[in-house]
Amino acid sequence: MSFLDTKPGVPLLESDNLVRHYDVNRGFGKPGATVKALDGVSFTLEAKKTLAVVGESGCGKSTLGRQLTLIEKPSAGELKINGNTVGNLSDKEAKLFRRTVQMIFQNPYGSLNPRKKVGQILAEPVLLNMDHLGRKEREERVRETMAKVGLRPEFFQRYPHMFSGGQRQRIAIARALILEPKVIVADEPVSALDVSVQAQVLNLMMDLQEEMNVAYVFISHDLSVVRHIADDVMVMYLGRVAEKGPTEEIFAKPLHPYTRALLASAPKIDPAHRVKAEPLTGELPSPINPPSGCAFHKRCPFATEECAKVRPELRSFEGREVACHRVEEIA
Ligand code: SF4
Repeated sequence: MSFLDTKPGVPLLESDNLVRHYDVNRGFGKPGATVKALDGVSFTLEAKKTLAVVGESGCGKSTLGRQLTLIEKPSAGELKINGNTVGNLSDKEAKLFRRTVQMIFQNPYGSLNPRKKVGQILAEPVLLNMDHLGRKEREERVRETMAKVGLRPEFFQRYPHMFSGGQRQRIAIARALILEPKVIVADEPVSALDVSVQAQVLNLMMDLQEEMNVAYVFISHDLSVVRHIADDVMVMYLGRVAEKGPTEEIFAKPLHPYTRALLASAPKIDPAHRVKAEPLTGELPSPINPPSGCAFHKRCPFATEECAKVRPELRSFEGREVACHRVEEIA
């Protein structure tokens, strides 16, 4: 039995209190400091579902993506796949895990080797991870995957610079999909693209999810994109979860004051969906020296003395999880 076999009632991917701290040098004569980029994040992801991770720049969402794909090692906490702790996997299983959880980055041009043709770029992960396949089978796999993401056969011999941004992101998606992963962590996958191309790439990702049963962790600052693609949303603030729950419910009635402010700050075309709340003011505090109590209290219109002293834990409320002392009064 492989650690990749699904078990009834066990989530596909589970993050349990995941922490990532970085030690930083603040210059000559100054004491070192710790950046708490990720400070205890828990969630579960089911097969074929999409969890969106949202928040301002610096909230820890990209750090989370790097821990989920083992690009970096978490400082503490557990990551599980099908109930198996990733830290306990053998070297062979850890390699298989990396193949099973793939990543798509924001800048497809930066993540594609400019000296290699598309056919070579896509064949590389197959060569490294599926060494039982011969040259002909490898090429067949590359060509099949190119067709799946809408890349024409003649693109096989072209270099990344010969493509538009949208086509390059299709190449990056093909490279992530070619190993048939169970989870793709997509970090701002459409934010560098024109709006018209964004919709094409998002629709492609949703079609591929249906076809290949893949689950997404979709990291984005763009709430309109998230609404389009995600089943669930997790809102992060300064390395912690502020609120998480089903997408439609969060957009219809955000509960945490930070979620309300984020939605009120997002540009809207449809006035019927405008959230009535004070938009966000001020800057995200430094994760080196976060505010005491609730990290949002200096920007929150509902803050009390208790908020400045006591950190609110995530708790269930109206079918969601919210980290706010006053959620019952605010709802
Ligand atoms: Fe605002 Fe207090 Fe809730 Fe934090 S705990 S979001 S400061 S009301």
